[in-house]
Amino acid sequence: MADKVPADARTIAIHCGRCRALLYKYRKGGSGSLVKVRPGRIAEDHTDGSLHCPGCGQQFAREAMMGGGPAYKIIGGKVTTKGMRRK
Ligand SMILES: [Zn+2]
Repeated sequence: MADKVPADARTIAIHCGRCRALLYKYRKGGSGSLVKVRPGRIAEDHTDGSLHCPGCGQQFAREAMMGGGPAYKIIGGKVTTKGMRRK
């Protein structure tokens, strides 16, 4: 079952907060800060699904069930995002 992508979703870039390596291109909805990632909305995955940075190896998220579905819960302060601004 595909995850529903919100009408206001836009593609953001998620980078490692330590070494700035690109982790995901992600279709995010809403204007809030990034707390979790839904696997079905990842447009590009540069981590091979490992939840570890391909550049420096730090773990940046944990698998969890949130809101009735699987999610990667971002560990606070481990990532930075680009493209969050509203149109
Ligand atoms: Zn890194």
